[in-house]
Amino acid sequence: MKTTAIYPGTFDPITNGHLDLIKRGLLTFNEVIVAVAPTLKKQPLFTLHERLRLIHAAVKGLKGTKVDSFNSLLVDYVKKKKGNAILRGLRAISDFEYEFQLAHMNRRLNTNIETVFMMPSEEYSYLTSSIVREVAAFGGSVKGLVPEEVEKALRNKFRNVKYFTE
Ligand code: ADP
Repeated sequence: MKTTAIYPGTFDPITNGHLDLIKRGLLTFNEVIVAVAPTLKKQPLFTLHERLRLIHAAVKGLKGTKVDSFNSLLVDYVKKKKGNAILRGLRAISDFEYEFQLAHMNRRLNTNIETVFMMPSEEYSYLTSSIVREVAAFGGSVKGLVPEEVEKALRNKFRNVKYFTE
């Protein structure tokens, strides 16, 4: 039987931590669908189109990976895609509370859909998209933390940004 995991997230932008998780997911599931979620609470740095392009570039060659976006309840999307599970990453204790709420809410909305948690390699366990955005905004290097295409895209985004101290 073919097994599919849906890996939802904002991916603003995709990092090597996300990629680590996708690769781990592929060891357990035949297919991982990276599903870019709508962002209700925050204005993303990258548009949906840009985020999708960067994910596509990053997962090129990772057999069994698909990239998509959705604009509905996650559990409805998972059902539509005939997914077997929702894949989420747990980095540190700080992730736990939010993930706990999310997993229970999704279970309440659809009892048949399980959430599976995986831990990234230690080197990525402190890595978040928001810290990457912040470092890049101030001209710091994020080499080794994000795919090269993302590094380039961040440089382009912040090329014309000047910071004033006064
Ligand atoms: P969201 O806004 O839904 O939290 P993210 O794109 O930040 O979206 O993250 C999507 C999923 O990937 C979440 O489960 C998050 O915990 C996980 N994740 C994010 N960064 C990492 C990382 N460095 N290692 C492992 N999992 C991660």
